[in-house]
Amino acid sequence: MLHQIVVAPDPRSYLARHHEEGPVLFYAPALLRATLERFLRGFPGLVTYAVKANPSESVLSELIAGGIHGFDVASPEEIRLIRRLAPGIALHYNNPVRSPAEIAAGIAAGVVSWSVDEAGELDKLLAAPLPPGSEIAVRLRLPVAGAAYDFGSKFGATPDEAVALLARVGASGHIPAMTFHVGTQCRDPAAWERYMRTSADIARAAGVTIARLNVGGGFPAARGEGAIDLAPFFAAIERGAGAFATRPVLVCEPGRGLVADCHGYAVGVKSLRPGRAYLEDGIYGGLSEFPSMGVPRFSVLAPDGSLREGAPVARVVFGPTCDSLDRLPGEIALPGDIAPGDRILFPSTGAYLNGVTTTFNGYGHRRDVTVAALS
Ligand SMILES: *Cc1c(COP(=O)(O)O)cnc(C)c1O
Repeated sequence: MLHQIVVAPDPRSYLARHHEEGPVLFYAPALLRATLERFLRGFPGLVTYAVKANPSESVLSELIAGGIHGFDVASPEEIRLIRRLAPGIALHYNNPVRSPAEIAAGIAAGVVSWSVDEAGELDKLLAAPLPPGSEIAVRLRLPVAGAAYDFGSKFGATPDEAVALLARVGASGHIPAMTFHVGTQCRDPAAWERYMRTSADIARAAGVTIARLNVGGGFPAARGEGAIDLAPFFAAIERGAGAFATRPVLVCEPGRGLVADCHGYAVGVKSLRPGRAYLEDGIYGGLSEFPSMGVPRFSVLAPDGSLREGAPVARVVFGPTCDSLDRLPGEIALPGDIAPGDRILFPSTGAYLNGVTTTFNGYGHRRDVTVAALS
């Protein structure tokens, strides 16, 4: 554990003593370390981290100190950030669309693995040229199943395209690999096994023995619905590895599954009107994921830290900006005794909050508070 200064035992006791306005992001490094250890102990291969999920230096430093094996980076700026914190650690550049200048920055920083999902992008890598011994991982996409939303609509080669790409990678002299992303917040372990079996079929059809298979991220966060048991996911991945004649080294690159559950986010209630609530933060700030992911199961705290438990009343919930799009999806059941000055405490907010919060309309500020535990 890094020696981060813990300022409160947990969010409720902090909020009971601090009534300043503004959202508060709670971070429990001890929980991050425990989650990392569950991945390191249970995942049958190398554990890397997708930086975009939460690029905060305290999170990255904790992962480095905890022995993470590498990082999935997507831009020269993410590469610089990791190189500053961990000069020798493995970098996997898995954003498959790159400009020549971005490729050059990756080569200069010693990127060891590159994903590719299209012939023109492979042409760019080979023309750069990549140094001998680089790994090139063909990114596969299948129709989405089990995830909160579809990653395959943006990146990934179809199985037929993947066969052709992998054959070219095999002939290029670089190290052939494959990768995929089942989609974020995927609660169905079978999705990984399905992708892995198809990957094995593709490698066979291409006549290429892949050195490594990167099974991506997508591991779910609890979102207030009980701790995630990773064992069924790791077991499905182990079964999937059995589909290969020669077992590839496995790599995973979770974002959300590592960092979401070690954070909580408290947002104050500014105003209540019949059928409506106005909060201190919304979709341009720390709640930007809620329209696509849904609202996690939350609790509402009175200023003294006690739980509001009144019979639920559905309200439309707005953020603080003057934009009418700034509202949470649907209607949200809030306790009937909720009052202005209460705080809503959202769980599992460690992913896709840092890095996507805007300052639109002058909002977007928050306090960061390190805690020993989240409950
Ligand atoms: C975003 C991303 C991840 C992390 O996804 P999660 O669903 O947060 O685990 C992993 N790999 C790649 C290539 C990504 O773009």
